[in-house]
Amino acid sequence: MIPAAYAVLDLNALVHNLEKVHGCAPDAKVMAVIKANGYGHGLVRIAQALHAADGFAVARVDEGVRLRKAGITNRVAVLEGFTCGEELDVLLHNQLEPVVHSFTQLDILAARTGPEVCAVWLKLDTGMNRLGFKAKDFNAAYQRLNACPIVKKPANLMTHLANADDKQDAMTLRQIQLFNDTVENLPGERSIANSAGILGWPQSLADWVRPGVMLYGISPFPDSTGVQLGLKPIMSLHSRLIAVKQIKPGDTVGYGAGWLCKNAATLGVVAIGYGDGYPRYARTGTPVLVNGKRAPLVGRVSMDMITVDLSAQPNAKPGDAVTLWGDGLAVEEIAECAGTIPYTLVCGITPRVQLVEADMDRSGW
Ligand SMILES: *Cc1c(COP(=O)(O)O)cnc(C)c1O
Repeated sequence: MIPAAYAVLDLNALVHNLEKVHGCAPDAKVMAVIKANGYGHGLVRIAQALHAADGFAVARVDEGVRLRKAGITNRVAVLEGFTCGEELDVLLHNQLEPVVHSFTQLDILAARTGPEVCAVWLKLDTGMNRLGFKAKDFNAAYQRLNACPIVKKPANLMTHLANADDKQDAMTLRQIQLFNDTVENLPGERSIANSAGILGWPQSLADWVRPGVMLYGISPFPDSTGVQLGLKPIMSLHSRLIAVKQIKPGDTVGYGAGWLCKNAATLGVVAIGYGDGYPRYARTGTPVLVNGKRAPLVGRVSMDMITVDLSAQPNAKPGDAVTLWGDGLAVEEIAECAGTIPYTLVCGITPRVQLVEADMDRSGW
């Protein structure tokens, strides 16, 4: 039995997208960013498919632990670092590499005498104003880190770009300049670029790049799709029609009577909603593919269902295939229609949606 809502993952495309990273940054090592359950695609599955990456980055310690429990042996950086000694214990035990961004963390590190060794990523805040030491504090932080017996020397050095998806904004060049100036005389490998840096700012490549969204075949830029950039999307989201009906002028559809029918129409009900992670704020007119042809969403998205105008294909019937995003319908376009970014759509797929790999035998469904 085919589940009503499912997502198909083309893992072979991950390798293609990783190649694209290498093409843009031929001299850099790649730290594949797989936080937030591999951007919704499955943490361990993505790590296994990307075993050729030089390392991984996750946001939290528990994500790193899940990787180790699954037998992943690549280097793993933990982008949010740690906030207490217990968390540092877990990092050490699992040989995870924390980002060090605060003096509180330096105090915790300095209190340890070993024998463990901890590789770290010392973070400079070049303008994001989220995590990292300010430039004026960086040298002091570096010296204190260097004095910590358990820290592996030399520390790796990193920063994060705040607006690299806007190719016109000179802020990115200022951030790169500040980073390069601040770390100029320090040993240690350097890392600046996220996907937008890799694709748009060659000055940001450095020793390590940190691609996230582009690995999943999605564009970091608002004015292009992953496909247009030569990437291959990993995820497509599918469901099916569960009812088809005729409605007449004056009828309204859905909660809040959110859509008023002006001409007689054929309405399709699709088994997907915000309970699956389909965006609640997708507006009337958002395209879906019914039997491979575009049909506009009408009315409000509800928890388990959406409604679409099938007037252009009145012969559609319950059971017919519906694609919410995927081949022929970019997740970037859906994000635009929902007033969000594609990152939130793939990250937001809920556990109710079955994730299946493209080459999996689905005869047992
Ligand atoms: C999430 C993240 C990345 C990856 O960003 P993308 O835009 O998905 O490429 C890189 N570095 C840091 C510090 C991050 O938090």
